[in-house]
Amino acid sequence: MVQDPKTAGEPRCRFCDSPLRHTLVDLGMSPLCESYVPATRLNQMEPFYPLHAYVCSECFLVQLEAYVSAEEIFTDYAYFSSYSESWVEHARRYCEHMIERFRLGPDSLVVELASNDGYLLQHFVARGIPVLGVEPAANVAQAAVQKGVPTLVRFFGETAAREMAAAGQAADLIVGNNVLAQVPALNDFVRGIRRLLRPRGVVTLEFPHLMRTIEENQFDQIYHEHFSYFSLATTDRIFRAHGLTIFDVEELPTHGGSLRVYGRHTEDDSQPVSGRVFELLQREAEAGYGSLARYADFGERVKETKRKILSFLIEAKRAGKTIAGYGAPGKGNTLLNYCGIRTDFIDYTVDRNPHKQGKFLPGTHIPIYAPERLFETRPDYLVIMPWNLKHEIMNQMAAIRQWGGRFVIFIPEVTVEP
Ligand SMILES: [Zn+2]
Repeated sequence: MVQDPKTAGEPRCRFCDSPLRHTLVDLGMSPLCESYVPATRLNQMEPFYPLHAYVCSECFLVQLEAYVSAEEIFTDYAYFSSYSESWVEHARRYCEHMIERFRLGPDSLVVELASNDGYLLQHFVARGIPVLGVEPAANVAQAAVQKGVPTLVRFFGETAAREMAAAGQAADLIVGNNVLAQVPALNDFVRGIRRLLRPRGVVTLEFPHLMRTIEENQFDQIYHEHFSYFSLATTDRIFRAHGLTIFDVEELPTHGGSLRVYGRHTEDDSQPVSGRVFELLQREAEAGYGSLARYADFGERVKETKRKILSFLIEAKRAGKTIAGYGAPGKGNTLLNYCGIRTDFIDYTVDRNPHKQGKFLPGTHIPIYAPERLFETRPDYLVIMPWNLKHEIMNQMAAIRQWGGRFVIFIPEVTVEP
């Protein structure tokens, strides 16, 4: 049989293997958003990959094709969680809550997948609870070990889980914050969780909630490092397929609206399924997330958002205003590349992370400085790239108002803060 060229090489769903034929949004070609460019490489070619999000017509998993291996993305990662104060505080409250709810103590084991620099596990260590981090980026794992958080430098999946189990490790609590989206082999990862979890163990995963991403126009949450985007219904389906059951869910304000799901072995009936799970599944169904039509108009809304952002920037520049950015997060790079915003609009951005300072944003080559630069150049507008942290940043940087500086947010709508 001669293969139809239109379907040759057609991408397939990483959960259910159905062909992916429906576009959620096509953001064009974009570089890897965490690949900050040092000055010595400014004159070199930079790889760009399609940033095209599909929705699976069978399971409604929104996803990108994995053009780049997870090894390329995550083994030398510039993101150190501890640079965000609000995120560390979020982690501390989570630990207190888990210790109390699941009665964790000196005989428990807490395993965090993608444990980064130990920003979370350190709080369990402080309470005398044994922990183990699993983190593929050696540079951030080293920072965790220095905090007293034992850390395996590797990717997590079924093989890693089997080896950990063979070494006598079984988890009472498995934590995965913002890692599920970043897993190319989704089924292998969830099988690994099942294998590592004690019979009465609990897994909690946090990830941006697809319903919020779509309803609040957060297209900049889409980047190559985030392979998948989940509704509760799709996550529930994935868990069930692997012998796990979601028994509770919380809606969190983090990352513009996240879910924290609580899972257990399906056969463990010590944790009944909470009414919150049924309630949210129903809310998603009523909002249409179980049918393709709900996903169809997002792409058009994103294009209109791009036009509004560019209109604002063009008018500001025509009026002689100076514009700087605050932050250099992945989401900012998606937005800037998609909209084609370079130093013609934004002179520079600043970031508190010294690993980013002195480098340039991928694709747009906007330079990154330490925040002090703002006080030297006194820009008229400061665009907050990580809009999810806008309250924290507006507090930290309130001094820009002394020279009449104004904060600007692009998502969900272009807004100049009063
Ligand atoms: Zn699917």
